[in-house]
Amino acid sequence: MILAYHRINPWYKSDPLTVNPEKFEKQINYLLKRGFKNFSFEEDFIKNETLIITFDDGFYDNFLFGLPLFKKLKIKPVIFVIAGYISTEKLWNRYKDYEKDRFLKWEEIREIIKEGIEIGSHTLSHPHLTEIDENKVKEEIYGSKKIIEDKIGREVKFFCYPYGEFNEKIIEFVKIAGYKYAFVTPKKNKKIRNSEYSLRRVGIYGHNSFFIFKLKIWKEYIKTKF
Ligand SMILES: [Zn+2]
Repeated sequence: MILAYHRINPWYKSDPLTVNPEKFEKQINYLLKRGFKNFSFEEDFIKNETLIITFDDGFYDNFLFGLPLFKKLKIKPVIFVIAGYISTEKLWNRYKDYEKDRFLKWEEIREIIKEGIEIGSHTLSHPHLTEIDENKVKEEIYGSKKIIEDKIGREVKFFCYPYGEFNEKIIEFVKIAGYKYAFVTPKKNKKIRNSEYSLRRVGIYGHNSFFIFKLKIWKEYIKTKF
């Protein structure tokens, strides 16, 4: 079972990308109590009962509210950072408050990895990979891996496609770059076959009630076979 989150904070009640920390804790405890086991990255395979928690985009709140909770719950998520946005002034259009809405800084990422949490690549600039030319695609996939590895001094094994968009050619580049797994959140009504380079995730959003969360989980559980 692979879950995809974005932001975690108590600030935004109606932002779909933001899940409240209390809600998150309840969701993860539910899964742990039902026998899902947090993925250990020494294992080289993924089972149906493996729980992989991922966070996309690398927001500062992952450090501020996420990290203490990850420690408390003894989980080790994967955080997919946009390498070109780290330690910059960059803000996404939908957000206004730099103090709250900024992306992570390198020093925060270093604190995060000390706890055994994995950092994955979510490209350099979050482009639509299927719409840009091949050299740009390579730069986004290879360049982001290199930058993150240089900064954290650790191998980056995971990649996540922005907007869930990819094709065979893009998968090839991801493999050549040396990533071990790549993750995707399927767009509505789009079927994605699970493979090492297209690991299907369940997107969890701020407006999902606990009932909807459970429904999503068990629907995916029935569908998935590793
Ligand atoms: Zn993203």
